[in-house]
Amino acid sequence: MPEGDTIHYAAARIRTALAGRVPEEILTPHPRHRLKGWPRALAGRAVRSVDAHGKHLFVRFEGALTLHSHLRMSGAWDVHERGERWRRAHSRAWIVLRAQGWEVVEFDGPLLELIPDARTRTDPRLAGLGQDIIGARFDERLFLERLRRDDPARPIGDALLEQRTVAGIGNYWKSEACFAAAVDPWTPTAQVQDERALALVRFAREQMALSAREGFSRRPRAVYRRAGQPCPRCGEPILQRGQWENNRVTFWCARCQR
Ligand SMILES: [Zn+2]
Repeated sequence: MPEGDTIHYAAARIRTALAGRVPEEILTPHPRHRLKGWPRALAGRAVRSVDAHGKHLFVRFEGALTLHSHLRMSGAWDVHERGERWRRAHSRAWIVLRAQGWEVVEFDGPLLELIPDARTRTDPRLAGLGQDIIGARFDERLFLERLRRDDPARPIGDALLEQRTVAGIGNYWKSEACFAAAVDPWTPTAQVQDERALALVRFAREQMALSAREGFSRRPRAVYRRAGQPCPRCGEPILQRGQWENNRVTFWCARCQR
């Protein structure tokens, strides 16, 4: 599932292919009417920059236009060398940007929009985001402030998913961070001391930055989708259950996470 590290990894690859270049060709194979005007709107415009914040990705064009995406569970960005086989069907591509032998493709949406730059600052979905977990700077005090503003009864595992508190953590990283810091993901946030809450984001920040730089193979995997298998620390079977309002799945060891 795409989380902040996946998005930053994609942004770096897209930047290599497109930054400073005017795409030679822009296609929108998916039969969605809304996409049809984009090739014309973007024709002749250079890509100024490509960046990510949490799970959001931005391809910024000359003329104050930005392509904004959020992949949720189903979308993907891929960068291919021209002629290379795609991993998904052509008709599932929402946009294809070709430049200098590269093909940058976004598949399966589900949120892909072309918006004026100003909206990337004022849209409440974006303006309300917390700090990027792998941004260049991370203010731990600000993170704690936002965490303490959330419902104190919310279990800490689920509170890490709140993108207004910190942006970029999803099911995978909240499970692994709670395991690494030996924190029970079911502890109400009010009962988690600052130092322990910080241990969670410090682990996520360090490991996600590594995965964003070097790719998925660098992700540690102690508990995520390992329900029933022995805990790598104590041997007890790993558990799985949905948490809080959205029933987002959590994996944990009941013996060594307290
Ligand atoms: Zn254990």
